[in-house]
Amino acid sequence: MKIGVISADIASESRVALTPDAVKKLRKLGFEVVIQSGAGQAAYYADELYQAAGADIANSSAEVISQSQIITTVNDLPAAATDGLTSGQIVIGMLDPYRNTQLDTYAAKGATVFAMELLPRTLSRAQNMDVLSSQANLAGYKAVLLAANEYSRPFPMFMTSAGTVKPAKVVILGVGVAGLQAIATAKRLGAVVEASDLRPAAKEQVESLGGKWLDVPMSEDEAQKAKATGGYAWTPSEQYIKDQAAVVDKALSNADIVITTAQIPGRQAPRLVHGATLAKMKAGSVLIDMAAGTGGNVEGSVPNETITTDNGVRVVGAANIPSMLAAQSSDLYANNLVNFITTLITPAHDDAATTELALNIDMDDEIQGALAVTHDSQVRLAKR
Ligand code: NAD
Repeated sequence: MKIGVISADIASESRVALTPDAVKKLRKLGFEVVIQSGAGQAAYYADELYQAAGADIANSSAEVISQSQIITTVNDLPAAATDGLTSGQIVIGMLDPYRNTQLDTYAAKGATVFAMELLPRTLSRAQNMDVLSSQANLAGYKAVLLAANEYSRPFPMFMTSAGTVKPAKVVILGVGVAGLQAIATAKRLGAVVEASDLRPAAKEQVESLGGKWLDVPMSEDEAQKAKATGGYAWTPSEQYIKDQAAVVDKALSNADIVITTAQIPGRQAPRLVHGATLAKMKAGSVLIDMAAGTGGNVEGSVPNETITTDNGVRVVGAANIPSMLAAQSSDLYANNLVNFITTLITPAHDDAATTELALNIDMDDEIQGALAVTHDSQVRLAKR
């Protein structure tokens, strides 16, 4: 059975779906692999490394698709590449399912398409397939470095004979996987860190990393709602949003660096920093909006651009930070894909090199069923 790797559009994406190491693992499982020439180049994985790992090289996406039973990709397939799909082929990637405009095309072609973002994250057997966590972890770290680079002062405190330099004050809004890594990184660089999230459970995590929790008052009703979502984000009330804006406004008027990470799968990112708050921030302060690609947490942020406000605040629309750490984020993403692909075949054991592989597509399986956005010529994604 052959697995193909389609090259991303390298103008906007440096990651690759499978790395040479992942190819070795798949070869060991009994798969053949074909990769579009140059697909790993922007992540520093040359064609020769894939060949040494046992992959074939193809000259075009059409060639990859015509040979492969399973097609892997980082983002959605280019529209032209979908032409060659045939019934029963499998596509696996981070397909931005709720904004994907090609689902009808995939269904019409009879392809089974798995969107990795839809993984049920609380399932313990799914954790090694969790692409949102693997990518967000690296992104949270890099966001702090981006901020440090944009900021024209140091992060740590310096005590010198010429005077004392105060540490930078960093505020993190949204303390999931990326936010926690951002706190840890900013602390390591010597900053003073404050953080907030609408999940009360995040307070303890913030404090355990040495950050200060920014508390937004919550009604009894909201506290119950927050508990009922099992640790995931809940829909805040008008009052909470107003109280949160006041807390953010106060914290940011003193901040040097702000990193926002709040996203809601399938929906527009919540607006956490309003223009009126931006206008109160210090000249030279820096905001990194990690939700810039899904609507933006910061008013006026522009995906993949850095703007400077009239009062001298730098707002970085960081829409695809994982792509900036392409080698490492590809390694982790590829591991996530290999772990998922392993569940699609029979026999699903560690070394099947001597056994004929058969696909085991099962919409009743809680992982496959959750990830499949098209199957049997139908779009299966529930609207949000
Ligand atoms: P995310 O990228 O969807 O959002 C980042 C953070 O923003 C989250 O903590 C969220 O609560 C917060 N947020 C959303 N809307 C907000 C708002 N209006 N105001 C303030 N904060 C807001 O989240 P994520 O980092 O992918 O993870 C979210 C949660 O999932 C975390 O609790 C994480 O620990 C949990 N998680 C669990 C598992 C597991 O159970 N195996 C795996 C991964 C993540």
